Amino acid sequence: MRGVVAARGGYRTDRRRPYAPAMPTYPLSPEDREIQERTRRFVDEELIPWEQHAEEHGGEIPAEDKARHTQMAIDLGLYAMNMPASLGGTEFTMLQQVLVSEQIGRVTNGLGWVVHTPPAWAPAVVSEHQLATWIEPTVRGARHECYAITEEGAGSDVDAIEATARLDGDQYVLNGVKMHVTSFNHADYCFFQAKMSGGQHDGEHAMFFVDLDTPGIRVVRVPRYTHTYADHPPLVAFEDVRVPAANLVGEEGDGLSFTYEWFRYERLMIAARCCGAADRLITEATAFAKERVQFGEPIFAFQAIQHMLADSLTELWAARLMTYELAKNIDRSVDVKLQHAQCSMAKLYASEMAGRVADRAVQIFGGRGYMRENVAERFYREVRVDRIWEGTSEIQRSIIADQLGKRGVTDLIG
Ligand SMILES: Cc1cc2nc3c(=O)[nH]c(=O)nc-3n(C[C@H](O)[C@H](O)[C@H](O)COP(=O)(O)OP(=O)(O)OC[C@H]3O[C@@H](n4cnc5c(N)ncnc54)[C@H](O)[C@@H]3O)c2cc1C
Repeated sequence: MRGVVAARGGYRTDRRRPYAPAMPTYPLSPEDREIQERTRRFVDEELIPWEQHAEEHGGEIPAEDKARHTQMAIDLGLYAMNMPASLGGTEFTMLQQVLVSEQIGRVTNGLGWVVHTPPAWAPAVVSEHQLATWIEPTVRGARHECYAITEEGAGSDVDAIEATARLDGDQYVLNGVKMHVTSFNHADYCFFQAKMSGGQHDGEHAMFFVDLDTPGIRVVRVPRYTHTYADHPPLVAFEDVRVPAANLVGEEGDGLSFTYEWFRYERLMIAARCCGAADRLITEATAFAKERVQFGEPIFAFQAIQHMLADSLTELWAARLMTYELAKNIDRSVDVKLQHAQCSMAKLYASEMAGRVADRAVQIFGGRGYMRENVAERFYREVRVDRIWEGTSEIQRSIIADQLGKRGVTDLIG
């Protein structure tokens, strides 16, 4: 069926009135817009052109081009955008970080990961030695971290981890098998989460800096995943790994609080990246629909196609507003519990939205949408994990419902 408004000449109802200029509707400061535009240009001109190459080469692009991209991210002030200026970061506001992440979300194959965000929670809790040894070099791009938290028996239920840490003289002895350790192949240290074995904090969580060249660390296997990324998440065994006591992050018993802080941040950034992915998908699917002719007219003229695009755009707008407002709330330092609930809402909605949009985009592209050279096919696979990592959709719903029960509607969304 043809759409009722799909007149060939366009969608203007009043032909005497000129179109309003294409103005962004969300109120952003000139500085915010400039950061957004700076990132968009980097993504469009430098990263997107490499997508197909990466898809065909296991996510890899030539080393010199990756190094160039990383250097550009640093030069553009996008690298370590979440870190304090005193450490060499660019200390963007949370809204600015969301704007950057949204643009990064527009590129497939993890090519945007050159815009790296070191653990923002770390500077407040780590020692001078840890700052100098791991965090500052990470901000400069000289070192790279990965997270070893999840285990075969402990995913959503992080508290079920079986990895242990035992104090032996001036060293901790670490044991455990970690799963999905993303970027292990590019990192040179990890954050290892364990439960204390013995001592005053027996059974409580603790987190450690672990250099990956420490004896006793072994890759168990490198499974293949749905997406085609250069960063691999292998299973890794830590067997009697000895680290200096000075590698303990914060205090024994603190481990979970760092993980939760990291989750909160990443959930917001996932929401932003999902908005970027949806933006690209809708843009490309709309352009295709206007060009692709079947039954003598562009498929954009068919109401079935219009409805898929209209639903997608509407949902993207909702997700984007939610994500931007949450970022502004964090910039306003609203209560952490409120941030926690709103991060879950934004991640839940935006990741599920991106999944629906990717699915519709594949449908609009038809058979082409099933080809790996097509952006919709790649995003269809890639955004799937956004409903799983950093807490599944079911876990986000549990968090939201828990907060709703404790605080009520007004406290959570005004
Ligand atoms: C590509 C990828 C990269 C990752 N990178 C990392 C990383 O770098 N470091 C790291 O530590 N981890 C990483 N993870 C792990 C990720 O965080 C976990 O996969 C995620 O937390 C879910 O855990 P799980 O896979 O064990 O699923 P499970 O916890 O086993 O869940 C299985 C199913 O049960 C549901 N479920 C579980 N509990 C409940 C509940 N209480 N109520 C309702 N439903 C429930 C879940 O929603 C899901 O549908 C990564 C995962 C992937 C896929």
